[in-house]
Amino acid sequence: MRGHHSEESKRKISESLKGRIAWNRGLRGKEYLKHLKRGKAWNKGLTKETDGRVAENVRKAGLAKRGKPSSFKGKKHTKEAIEKIRKAHMGAKSPNWRGGITPEYFKVHCSSEFRKKRKIILERDNYTCQRCGKPAKCVDIIIPWRVSKNISLNNLQTLCRHCNLSKIQDDKVYR
Ligand SMILES: [Zn+2]
Repeated sequence: MRGHHSEESKRKISESLKGRIAWNRGLRGKEYLKHLKRGKAWNKGLTKETDGRVAENVRKAGLAKRGKPSSFKGKKHTKEAIEKIRKAHMGAKSPNWRGGITPEYFKVHCSSEFRKKRKIILERDNYTCQRCGKPAKCVDIIIPWRVSKNISLNNLQTLCRHCNLSKIQDDKVYR
């Protein structure tokens, strides 16, 4: 027998395929848009405010995304949700959390006077942590600035990042 399919099986295949026409096949122009508006649109439920931005994104993304389900379908971030997310990322959970140091800490550590002394201290301590003896590049104010208001050389020491952070925790007793 030549070929893999007889006339009979070819007919059966084509019949079975008839039921599997792509959902958007034959839909053109206005009809296609109507179809999307009928509830197939993935961005259903978004506010008018976000709609403009969404439309822009859809335009950019092209047809590729249309018709695909999205986990964001029918949802939107409320103000409360945004606040919740913001709070969840604040404080100890934040990757920027450095143990509760104050803006004053930065003010002193970024001052030109401190920066000048920083190099002197690092060289004096031979770039070595004064607590654990490991190589270090942080300069710490031994008695915290908010208590001593003193950044003279004898109140400064070299600490590694780890010891510096743990000292910041210890320094809380001065508060
Ligand atoms: Zn150390």
